[in-house]
Amino acid sequence: MGKNIQNIIFNAAKRHELTKEEIIFLLSCEDFHKDSLFAAADRVREKYLGDAVHLRGLIEFSNYCKCSCRYCGLRCGNKKLKRYRMTIEEIYQTALRAHALGYRTVVLQAGEDQYYDADKIAALVCRLKKLGLAVTLSCGIRSYEEYRLWREAGADRYLLKHETADPKLYKALHPDSSLEERLDCLLQLRRLGYQVGSGCIVGLPGQNLETLASDLLLLKELDVEMAGIGPFIPHPETPLASVPKGSVELTLKMIAVLRLLLPLAHLPATTALATVDHDSRAQALCCGANVVMPNVTPQKYKQLYEIYPEKAGTNVASTQNRRQIIELITALGRKVATDQGHSPKERFQAVS
Ligand code: SF4
Repeated sequence: MGKNIQNIIFNAAKRHELTKEEIIFLLSCEDFHKDSLFAAADRVREKYLGDAVHLRGLIEFSNYCKCSCRYCGLRCGNKKLKRYRMTIEEIYQTALRAHALGYRTVVLQAGEDQYYDADKIAALVCRLKKLGLAVTLSCGIRSYEEYRLWREAGADRYLLKHETADPKLYKALHPDSSLEERLDCLLQLRRLGYQVGSGCIVGLPGQNLETLASDLLLLKELDVEMAGIGPFIPHPETPLASVPKGSVELTLKMIAVLRLLLPLAHLPATTALATVDHDSRAQALCCGANVVMPNVTPQKYKQLYEIYPEKAGTNVASTQNRRQIIELITALGRKVATDQGHSPKERFQAVS
């Protein structure tokens, strides 16, 4: 790499473009250069998005899943997991409580569970919109017609992580779908006018810096409105039980590089990061992240949504969890956003 790393960071912070080779270089930087990368990402976040941190209330409404993703504790082959489904009324009441606590976005997340047909979800979205909530859905791969119905019911955003941009690795880890199919869903969601969220896992077996650079370039190409990046955490009841955890430092570098590439995207300081290292949520907020997704799922279900074990915040009541996160944000000199936190893209396009 002939170019000076400081020049690469400087140019990326200005132009929001990087080659794959440059990304690999940044992901391997250490010490002083890593600090420069994090500081540049933080400045880009501040310039485009300000100091506000958006809190999204996460409702994990079913841990049933028909899929067998090799890293996930909710995989249908995990017979040791006690399964639950929240009723539509329970989900609504949980959202109502989240609204009363101050949340202006709820994220409805579940395994791929066909029990909730398109009409049930659409009717729920309609009711939630009447509360003045922004609604994010994260219900996996569904048909175009289902996505359309939910969008027409008022759903604002859809989260569907691509997990890894390497098609072979994707197939090896996800026996039930292909990367192509997943990307097709993301394009359909885009066409329907959703604010689209995607993201990837850091530390999967078979991954390398080139794969991770492809993940970031894919997110850039998709021009996502949101992207979640978290470290891999092994679950004992999966085929990947003995694979080591993903690196927190590498995950933070991924967030920082993505902030340089996508200055307007909402990037969460993920729960997976906080699970591996308590302090990493604050670190992520200082290297490009601007979102936290506290779990507001009723306590009796929380620990059963076990994608990976010992998820941060699981044993803490929703009110206390929110208070602790607000304290963290305030201690960083940041503030909690009071609006619904829609993508600022349109606002920027209007003035440019
Ligand atoms: S990652 Fe999602 S789709 Fe795959 S098994 Fe887990 S919950 Fe199901």
